[in-house]
Amino acid sequence: MTLAELGLSPWVLRAFAFAWGAVWGSFVNVVVWRVPRGESLVRPGSHCPACGKPVAPLDNIPIVSWLLLRGRARCCGARITPRYVVVEAIAGVIGLAVYEVIVRGMPAETSLYHAGVVFLADFGLAMGLLAAAFIDAEHMYLPDPITIGGTLVGLATPGLRGLHWMDAIVGAAVGFVGVWLPFVVLYKLVRGRHGMGLGDAKLTMLAGAWFGWPGVVFAVFAGALQATLATIVMLAVRGKIEEPESVKKDREELQKAAAEGDAEAAKLIEQDPLATAPGEGVLAARLPFGPFLCLAMIEWMLAGPWIAERWAPWLAP
Ligand SMILES: [Zn+2]
Repeated sequence: MTLAELGLSPWVLRAFAFAWGAVWGSFVNVVVWRVPRGESLVRPGSHCPACGKPVAPLDNIPIVSWLLLRGRARCCGARITPRYVVVEAIAGVIGLAVYEVIVRGMPAETSLYHAGVVFLADFGLAMGLLAAAFIDAEHMYLPDPITIGGTLVGLATPGLRGLHWMDAIVGAAVGFVGVWLPFVVLYKLVRGRHGMGLGDAKLTMLAGAWFGWPGVVFAVFAGALQATLATIVMLAVRGKIEEPESVKKDREELQKAAAEGDAEAAKLIEQDPLATAPGEGVLAARLPFGPFLCLAMIEWMLAGPWIAERWAPWLAP
């Protein structure tokens, strides 16, 4: 059976793809909040971040509930950050885009089964990247279950993207070594601090496992270009690059513990570059690069062939 034989109007499928995306966006919010805090993803169920009361299912509908309650919790009236609704909306748009661009771009004789598996794989990757981007933006680290787990899924499924096993293996190797060697090892030798983190290298390894070496090249260059643009905009609007709040907070707690004679905290401060305040000036500013790599990877997933055809035929997948 093919998608056309299913007999559903594209508008029904579009609405379903968006709603499906928004529902998973809700789960991405749970991941972004709980994973950095070491909490379980399944238990307990959704609860109010302010007063801890469980959230009723009707108040937990993606996007809709937040709008109806005008960004406040029903239980205690606490303000619910718009980040929740932003993540759900982005996830909805991603679901819609994967259907519109990738599934509808497939030949008419593609089986429904194959179209469904490709949709789930690409959508799943995008959700992992969405979670990684928001965790890195807030906490400046990329969780291994997403970067390494995502790499393994990519290595297991190259055929879904018309690639060979070898493309995925070479891509993952290029992605890791190509970022780890120059930006983590050599940069540290020359400038005494890391240019990028090990997490960034694992993320470009994921890019290579999914899209081969051209995906790595695009992620690094488009990521750097977009990070530069974001830096310029941030400097123009705010006059400085703000370090994420929670990184500042973690550091203050660590320094307080060290000052009170906690030997373990003192050791952590010595090892972790984030445990010392950044120096003055734009070049010393710390901007997480992960979100820009994630954005570039989603762009490449959705528009890789189109981008390559116009600007970089040598990258053509
Ligand atoms: Zn509450």
